[in-house]
Amino acid sequence: MSGILFERITLIGIGLIGSSIARDIRDKGLAGELVISTRSEATLKRAEELGLGDRYLTSAAEAVKGADLVIVSVPVGSSGMVAEQIAPSLKPGAILTDVGSTKASVIAQMQPHVPEGVHFIPGHPLAGTEKSGPDAGFPGLFKGRWCIFTPLPDTDPEALGRLRDFWAALGSRIDEMDPLHHDKVLAIVSHLPHIIAYNIVGTADDLETVTESEVIKYSASGFRDFTRLAASDPTMWRDVCLHNKDAILEMLARFSEDLASLQRAIRWGEGDKLFDLFSRTRTIRRSIVEAGQDVDAPDFGRHALDPKT
Ligand code: NAP
Repeated sequence: MSGILFERITLIGIGLIGSSIARDIRDKGLAGELVISTRSEATLKRAEELGLGDRYLTSAAEAVKGADLVIVSVPVGSSGMVAEQIAPSLKPGAILTDVGSTKASVIAQMQPHVPEGVHFIPGHPLAGTEKSGPDAGFPGLFKGRWCIFTPLPDTDPEALGRLRDFWAALGSRIDEMDPLHHDKVLAIVSHLPHIIAYNIVGTADDLETVTESEVIKYSASGFRDFTRLAASDPTMWRDVCLHNKDAILEMLARFSEDLASLQRAIRWGEGDKLFDLFSRTRTIRRSIVEAGQDVDAPDFGRHALDPKT
């Protein structure tokens, strides 16, 4: 239990991220009242069945009335539309934040709608799974994970401090970045790996005769680690690609160059070159484990049918 940080919190979007936030708010008692809004009746009903909040509304504009903190957790391509809907109903002094995986585009879409007196602080928790929807969320998703804020130049330090306290209560480690820098960093650590996974799984699927039999049968030999990433939500990842286009294209160009060099090393039998690269990458894996961003269990990602384990 951490105690009430905001009298009323409204969550817009109650999928994997929104519902994980809701579970933590509920379990830690961070809000006097927790209001939940999502566009479809079906998802809203499911959120209610799961007991994620205190009040449930399909109208985002109604849901934000009187809220001290509003967290938008919808696909990044929809953030502008949501901001437009809620803007006239936001309470002066309220904090408005989001969790979108791209930041420059979300700021460009949302900021023009934010009324004077409302503190808009874009954010991005670096935590998730390949699952989506309210059933996919779980308490503790953000524990030990980074939450990056990309505050605008005139951000009120007190509002920022309150939002930092909120994410810290969820167990997150907090950092701040310039939005364009965030988008570049995320393009390499998250967006490119997903695109590579979608591509490799797509290629295997195109080789139809193989997919029917051997690819699935022998998937344990590496392919299945890609299939987990490639099972991520299509809407979310379509929007990420469209809304971080420049940084992703830049990273893809670098990736293609390096792949060509690897291809050449294989063609010409340059074993030393291959060995050097594979040794360097192994060190990176060790650094990630040492930084507490993964565990060193040899079967990581395979035994964990339940993401909570
Ligand atoms: P999700 O599980 O698919 O949930 C999406 C939520 O947004 C649902 O409540 C859905 O409502 C709503 N929504 C979808 N399209 C909408 C639209 N056009 N207008 C309004 N609401 C819409 O997605 P998620 O994984 O929680 O991702 C939400 C955000 O978090 C995204 O911006 C994503 O980039 C970011 N993020 C995701 C991860 C991850 O690993 N998944 C990690 C960090 C950040 P209905 O069901 O009612 O249609």
